[in-house]
Amino acid sequence: MNAEMPENISVLGLGLMGSALAGGLLAAGHRVTVWNRTPAKAEPLVAKGATLADTPARAVEASPLVIVCLLDYPSVEEVLGQASLEGRVIANLTTGRPAEARETASWVAGRGGDYLDGGIMAVPQMIAQPGALILYSGSQRAFDRYQPALAAMAEPRFTGDDPGMAPLLDLAMLTGMYGQIAGLLEAAALVTSAKFPLGEFVESLLVPWLNAMAAQQPAWAAKMESGDHSTEVSNLEVNRAGLENLVRTFREQGVKPDLLLPMKTIVDQRTARGLGHEGLSGLIEELL
Ligand code: NDP
Repeated sequence: MNAEMPENISVLGLGLMGSALAGGLLAAGHRVTVWNRTPAKAEPLVAKGATLADTPARAVEASPLVIVCLLDYPSVEEVLGQASLEGRVIANLTTGRPAEARETASWVAGRGGDYLDGGIMAVPQMIAQPGALILYSGSQRAFDRYQPALAAMAEPRFTGDDPGMAPLLDLAMLTGMYGQIAGLLEAAALVTSAKFPLGEFVESLLVPWLNAMAAQQPAWAAKMESGDHSTEVSNLEVNRAGLENLVRTFREQGVKPDLLLPMKTIVDQRTARGLGHEGLSGLIEELL
């Protein structure tokens, strides 16, 4: 596939993710310069047409758009600190905290560069495939200029001019994922304690149930946004009794309910305030 407008793009960091990103850009027909602390990792990309730069400074000099994908933010400043960023767009796709993204944006601006932070919602194998998403925030001007090129790696979605927004949304999505994994772990332990075939439970019962529950989440979000926590489904009092049952059952089956207990604590807390008539959406008030 040839890009409609081939760009000069540099990629700093050729770990599993950086190599996949550079590969996606090359496959789309862009002129890609790469740099990695361990140069041998560049060989497969050079074989596909990438140019290897021997220093970060030369890599940054080669292209107006510089994609950075390193281990963490300290390594980003260590590497970019060796280069002149004047007139460059730095798209930093390294995972980090919103505060680090804001700090790096100011640091790059102080060196004459424009900054985009990115949160990659994909594993390396998904890059340049349908379904891969990268969240961006920071310079709208830089995003608008390079959106077609960024699309060669994954669907690019701009989320606002606060550079911390993309990493915050990235972490929020991971939070949802860890909640789901916590539920899976507890459910799997309970089912295993009863010697029911786990694979069959997960595939034929749990996943369809979770998909049905996930479909309700936009309606829950609307309730949280409006502050109207009335419910015709199941109020907190009913859920409190349900969680009590769950925790007692876990103990009777010899399974630890550790991942469920924080949920029970917060439901107990809200009902103790006399809000047992509300729906589960009201629990957000206990967290804010
Ligand atoms: P890897 O461990 O495969 O690669 C890490 C990269 O960082 C390598 O290029 C490594 O160089 C470089 N590096 C580490 N420390 C330094 C340093 N002090 N100076 C210069 N270079 C350094 O990790 P990934 O490629 O998987 O991940 C990179 C980023 O992408 C991370 O922030 C990760 O969270 C994010 N990400 C990864 C995903 C994944 O599924 N892999 C998914 C979503 C985001 P060297 O080769 O020399 O060691």
